[in-house]
Parts: sequence; structure tokens; C-alpha cells
Amino acid sequence: LTDVGLGEFGRIARFFAPLARSLPGAFGLTDDGAVLDLGPGRRLVVTTDALVAGVHFVGDEPAGDVARKALRVNLSDLAAMGAEPVAYSLVTALPTSVDDGWVAGFADGLAADQAEFGILLSGGDSVATPGPITISITAMGAVGEAWLSRSGARVDDLVCVSGTIGDGALGLDVLRGRLALDSVDAAFLVDRYRRPRPRHRLGPALVGVASACIDISDGLLADLGHLAQASGVGARVWVDRLPLSPAAAAARERMAAFVDTRALAGGDDYELLFTVDPANRDKVLAIARALEVAVTEIGKVVVGAGVRAVAGDGTDVTPLSTGWRHG
Ligand SMILES: [Mg+2]
Repeated sequence: LTDVGLGEFGRIARFFAPLARSLPGAFGLTDDGAVLDLGPGRRLVVTTDALVAGVHFVGDEPAGDVARKALRVNLSDLAAMGAEPVAYSLVTALPTSVDDGWVAGFADGLAADQAEFGILLSGGDSVATPGPITISITAMGAVGEAWLSRSGARVDDLVCVSGTIGDGALGLDVLRGRLALDSVDAAFLVDRYRRPRPRHRLGPALVGVASACIDISDGLLADLGHLAQASGVGARVWVDRLPLSPAAAAARERMAAFVDTRALAGGDDYELLFTVDPANRDKVLAIARALEVAVTEIGKVVVGAGVRAVAGDGTDVTPLSTGWRHG
């Protein structure tokens, strides 16, 4: 007999059951389902995101980074709803060429992020596929009587964004050979692409303060467009106000229009984009200070429909393509 590795059940027992050990309702991944206790007055928020090798990640990343990105894009959706992470369900569809060592690294990445973000594995499925590595995670979070939605923006609300934007898209440009930078800046941007930082504390803190919220996955203008459409309003973004990292700013010194377009339409930021009544501006600033998260006012909600990017002199600089189109 040749060594065929641990097999499906061996991999679950060895690599995935330990990730569920601290969640009593997961029953060590030995039952047909999990039972989650949210506590009184708490509601479940559920979100799913899948990653496919060659589409959502390059494919040659360390397994731990693939795991962390798959979990973090879901944590970002929970944050956008104002939900606190509780548990997640994991489906891995792996080609037979993927060995136990890869799965071990994948599970190590999940373990590290479980500790960082306070979420536990509740179950899932492992299947073989003739196609590329495909990872699907369904994340579950908890909210109280209120949460964040896309539909609450009102005319004259401020448009705000957390952190810096454009880094993830520029990191992918570095990986694809479209952007050359010094090694420190290049490494920073690639890390931002591979390891997004979900705003898991900011989201819940904005419940009752922000009027609407979304996380930036498709691109700032595209996602603001989703929020504006859900709210029945329009929005303006002031390009001069976009918060850029030092690495993105360095790239902008040589390629201003390129970097602005990536910041407006690149996607993969996983920052929170939210609207807030001007009367709540000080509350937002206090939350940002307390959580040590940068929050920048980048625009305004207006009457009408559609999202436009505007330069300092009032010129419309909305890119023709404003973000990733699904399908
Ligand atoms: Mg989202």
C-alpha cells in the first residue's frame, strides 16, 4: 500500500476538530450539526464568502494565508453588520494533489485567527474536487436589538471610511508585476492584499451611531453605490480626502491617476465604509480614538442616485469602471 495520507475523516479529526474544541455546541465535530447559544436578546447574523484559487487568491500563497483571508473576508462582512464574531462553518474543496502538510498549515492559519478575532469552528464539510482549491466559509455573529444595514443613509450624512484604501489592490498589482516599488513598500502592500484586517471592533461600536455601513470588497465607489442604492440616495466622494498608506502615497508620487483609480475602484480593502449624521461626528471620532482605528470623512450623501468622485477643483473624476463586477 502507498501512503495516501490521513484521508477526509483523519484530516477532520487531526486538523479541524481542535479548532472546535472550545465551542461546546460543536460537539467536537462528531454530530450532524452544531447548537449555538447566543444568550438572551441576541440575534444571529449569517454571512458566506467563498474563495477560489486563481480568482480570489493567486494560488501559491502559504496555506495559512489562504485560510486567514477566507476567514477574514467573512469577519469583515460581520463587522459591516455590526455583529460580534461567534462561530464559522468551513467547506474545503481540495484537489487530490493537496497534501496533509498543506491542510496542517491551513488549520494553523485558522487557529491563529480564531485567537485574534474570537471566533470558533462549528462544523463544515471537506470534499475532493477536480478543480482549483475552493474554500467557503459561513460566519455567524451576534447582535442585540440593533445592527448596521446598508439602507439607513440620509441626505447630508457624512461618508466615512476606516483605515487606508487602495492597499489591497496595489498589493495585487505588485504580485502581478504591474507596479514596482521599493521592497519595504511592496511587502507592505502584498501583506495588505493577503491579510486584510477586518474591523471587528469598529463595526459593533458603530451600531446606533452610523446610519448605514458596508465593507469595501468590490471597490470604494462600487460598494458606496450599493449602500446609496439601498438607501435611495446619491453620494459624492472627494478624491483629495482619500486616506492612503505611506506605501500607496509613495506610488502616487509617480502614478497619481493610477493610484487614485485603484483607491476608488480597486477593491480588496476590507475597510468599513459608513455614513453618519453630522450630529454624530464627535461620537465617531471618540470611537475611532478609543479603538485606535483611523476614520476619515471622505464625502457626503446627496439627493438623487449614483456615486461620483470629485477632485479638489470640482472636476468629476469618476473612473469608467468603478469596481469588480460579479459574474
Ligand atoms: Mg460585504
